[in-house]
Amino acid sequence: MIKENQENKELPSVRVEEEKAMNASRRTLLQGAVTLGVAAASGLAMNLAMPGSAEAMTRALPNQWDEKIDVVIVGSGFAGLSAAAEAGAQGSKVIILEKRPTYGGNSIINGGEYNSWDDKFHLRQKLNLGEDSTDLHKTDTLKGGDFYGSPELVDVLVKGATASLDWMVDNGGLKLRDVLNRTGGHTAYRTHTCDEGVGRGYTEALKKIAEGRGLEIRLNAEVTWIWRKDSDPLNPIEGVEVKIGKKTKNIQISKALILASGGFSRDIKMRQAFNPSIVPEFNCTNQPGATGEMIRYAQAVGADALQLAFIQLYPYADPETGILDAPAVYPFRGPGYGIVYVNKLGKRFVNEMERRDVVSMAQIKTGMKPTYSIFNEAMIPKMGTKEEVEKGMAKGRFVKAETLAELATKLGIPADAVQETIKTHNSYMADGKDPDFSRQFTKSMIPLTEGPFYAIAQWPAVHHTMGGLRINKEAQVIDIWGNPIPRLYAAGEVTGGVHGSNRLGGNAVPDCIVFGRIAGTNAAKKG
Ligand SMILES: Cc1cc2nc3c(=O)[nH]c(=O)nc-3n(C[C@H](O)[C@H](O)[C@H](O)COP(=O)(O)OP(=O)(O)OC[C@H]3O[C@@H](n4cnc5c(N)ncnc54)[C@H](O)[C@@H]3O)c2cc1C
Repeated sequence: MIKENQENKELPSVRVEEEKAMNASRRTLLQGAVTLGVAAASGLAMNLAMPGSAEAMTRALPNQWDEKIDVVIVGSGFAGLSAAAEAGAQGSKVIILEKRPTYGGNSIINGGEYNSWDDKFHLRQKLNLGEDSTDLHKTDTLKGGDFYGSPELVDVLVKGATASLDWMVDNGGLKLRDVLNRTGGHTAYRTHTCDEGVGRGYTEALKKIAEGRGLEIRLNAEVTWIWRKDSDPLNPIEGVEVKIGKKTKNIQISKALILASGGFSRDIKMRQAFNPSIVPEFNCTNQPGATGEMIRYAQAVGADALQLAFIQLYPYADPETGILDAPAVYPFRGPGYGIVYVNKLGKRFVNEMERRDVVSMAQIKTGMKPTYSIFNEAMIPKMGTKEEVEKGMAKGRFVKAETLAELATKLGIPADAVQETIKTHNSYMADGKDPDFSRQFTKSMIPLTEGPFYAIAQWPAVHHTMGGLRINKEAQVIDIWGNPIPRLYAAGEVTGGVHGSNRLGGNAVPDCIVFGRIAGTNAAKKG
């Protein structure tokens, strides 16, 4: 790394700084070069959002601070709120800085799906939905990410998921639907849904707990820099620079900084820098604040990042807008209850039990936008509510018909083919064998024999960035030398290495909440 920078003729300011550093001790030289080297190594990313990125490499600590706070959290989604709740429980003064005018990030608009092998109501046993365990959840998660995920971090996620779900029920008033789904890439019925059917159910519960413990959320407050003297492994994070309206303020941090700033699906340049195949023309399911500047600021003070090229498409977004609204969650919840996906020719094109990346690629390979999910009335209570479906129909999202032929005609796809496809799929379900796509059938699946029938159009949109800051199981951010950076924690989608190459649906909420709680607890305790 250092050698590369010294040889890089494109980066004179880096060379000058390194020459200066040659006069210092070898240790100081190495550590000084980390800050510069990281900024230079990620120079492409740095230049994306920061016009003054060269100056940023040499920014000195502020002469004076405007305010001093124990624990500062960047981002007001699942991870930030969970961290705030735990940090506040230990008597620390905790604030969340949120750049958007409203709280919640992607979390509040999320589909409401939470994976846990168990819950305090023992829903799986009650609904007679078969076996599950933390081991199975872990295996599915690692396999679903092509084994790029860290087994150690996944272990924390799956083992912490149930306690965190119950914690929100007991302390935040969270209510769960009396149903469980088996969704793409999972081998068990473990996907819980909150009553509201959107992430707000969880964010409100978390906010209630955190505010009860003294949390203050500051909206329209954009963090524009992280202050650290240099990247000497002993030197802690000192504070942050925040832009509030036209004013800039420096907040000193006495205990810790927690980064909970989410992913970068909306940062087209950053997406392109790491994965050019995710072309700008793709729609995106995320809120506009899902940009990656906090990852770059953390890198600039020595943090390591990993797997930034792993970017997920959600296969079931609204084909026109990319929005992931309540109707767009039905195709995700449906596989375990027998939903069928067809292309514009009325034919199946993939195993519906497959992971999101597999389904998305299969859709793209049909070469015909959009594809459709088909389900019937009997499946609605398993996937959602009658009210949601009615609202979705009023918005033109769901199409309803008494017969499959009528449904196909309304969709403008060949009726004969749709009827034949569904008849064949029903017979496969009865035989328990799918010679076409090897779908795994379960006794909870419902054949599409009786109407009314419903359909929804679906197409991939950019959804989740699996890569991000490297953390350990204590949610400490790791520097490029492998050391935890003192007083710096991260949780949620801003981190990398949990989900591997592909996140299984419903795993992000427990990831954010479990690691958010760990970050908050450690930040307040150890600083
Ligand atoms: C539409 C949608 C549906 C989803 N459904 C599901 C689901 O059902 N189940 C599941 O497991 N996962 C789902 N996901 C994924 C999951 O919701 C996200 O991974 C999760 O919400 C991320 O939470 P977070 O706390 O890490 O970040 P976020 O909730 O995105 O919060 C980060 C916040 O940080 C703020 N921020 C960023 N940079 C700065 C800065 N410089 N200064 C100040 N503030 C900043 C952002 O504005 C944002 O509000 C869904 C995602 C989307 C987009």
